[in-house]
Amino acid sequence: MSPDAPLLTWRDPRHYDHRGDRPCVLCGRPTPLRSHQGEPAHKACAERWAGDHPGDTRFVSDPPGRARIHA
Ligand SMILES: [Zn+2]
Repeated sequence: MSPDAPLLTWRDPRHYDHRGDRPCVLCGRPTPLRSHQGEPAHKACAERWAGDHPGDTRFVSDPPGRARIHA
């Protein structure tokens, strides 16, 4: 993996589709994960794609701070 490949934060439950697996738009293998746009994609595949497309917002991390509501 490129050292420049970003690590995405996908902690929000909306990234997990309980309705089941769908083919990843990047590698074609089944995944229950969804991007912010609802595209089926493995997190690792999305990270690789983001590393290959710097500046593009197709795959992004969750906004910071959302998980700290109870802090
Ligand atoms: Zn994939």
